Amino acid sequence: MGRKELEGKVALITGGAGGIGSCTSKLFCEQGAKVVIADVQDEKGHSICNDIGTTHASFVHCDVTNEIHVQTAIDNAVAKHGKLDIMFNNAGIMDSRRSSILQNDIAEFENVVRVNLIGAFLGTKHAARVMQPAQRGSIVNTASVSSVLGGLTTHAYASSKHGLLGLTRNTAVELGKFGIRVNCVSPYVVPTAMPRKLFNLEDDDPLDNLYSNLSGVALKPEDVAQAVLYLASDESKYVSGHNLMVDGGYTIV
Ligand code: NAD
Repeated sequence: MGRKELEGKVALITGGAGGIGSCTSKLFCEQGAKVVIADVQDEKGHSICNDIGTTHASFVHCDVTNEIHVQTAIDNAVAKHGKLDIMFNNAGIMDSRRSSILQNDIAEFENVVRVNLIGAFLGTKHAARVMQPAQRGSIVNTASVSSVLGGLTTHAYASSKHGLLGLTRNTAVELGKFGIRVNCVSPYVVPTAMPRKLFNLEDDDPLDNLYSNLSGVALKPEDVAQAVLYLASDESKYVSGHNLMVDGGYTIV
C-alpha cells in the first residue's frame, strides 16, 4: 500500500456535511487523518461519519457564524485528538436568488457574508490559537472563482469570496512565522446543491452548459478534494497565501 498523505494528522472541516466537505472528509480519512465534521446539518453529518467509519470521523454541531460554537468545536477536537493540524474553512451559502444591487436585501447580503467570510475568520482565529503553540498547521479556505471574477454569481457571494481571498493573504502573512500556512482553493461550478439553486437547475441536470473550457469535462467534488489535500498536506510545505484555482482554466480565458 502507498504512503498516506495525512497519516497521524487531525483535521476539522466546516460544511463537512455538504458536497465538497463530505468528499474531502472521506479523502482525508482515506489518507490517514482523523476528521471532525462541523456543520449545522446534524443528521447528514452523523450519517456521513457512519459511512466513513466513526473511528476516523466524528460530527459536531457547529454554526460557523457563532464564535462560541467555533471555539468549542476546535477545543473539543484538540481535547479528543490531542492537536489540530488542518483547518478547512469550507462552510458556505449562496443568496436564494440573483438580484440587482438596487433590490439587494441587506439581511440576505449580511447573511452570506456572515457565513462565507466571518465564518472563515472565526475558524482561522481559533485554529491559529491552538496551532501557534505547536508551531505548525495548515489552514485552507474554500473561496471560488468568484474570489477573482465579477458577474458570475451574486453581489454578496462575490464580495464574500473576494474578502476571503484577502483574509487568506493577510493571515498567511501574519501566521507564517508560527509555521502556519494559509491558502485557499477556488473551484469553478461543482454540481452540488448550491449552484443548482442559483442557476435554477433540477437535481438531475448534469450542468453541461456550465462546464469550464475543458470540453465535456465536469468538475467534481473529488477534484476539489484533491486540491485541498495538497494544500493541507506537507507536500505543499512552501505554499502559503496562494489561491489555487480548480476551474479547468475558466479564469484565464
Ligand atoms: P453544499 O451546499 O453542498 O455544502 C455547504 C455546507 O455548508 C452544507 O453542508 C451546509 O449545511 C454548511 N453550512 C451552511 N451554513 C453553515 C453554517 N452557518 N455553519 C456551518 N455549516 C454551514 O455546497 P458545496 O458546493 O459543497 O460548498 C462548499 C463550499 O464550496 C462553499 O464555501 C461554497 O461557497 C464553495 N464553492 C462551491 C462551488 C460550487 O459550484 N458548488 C463553487 C465554488 C465554491
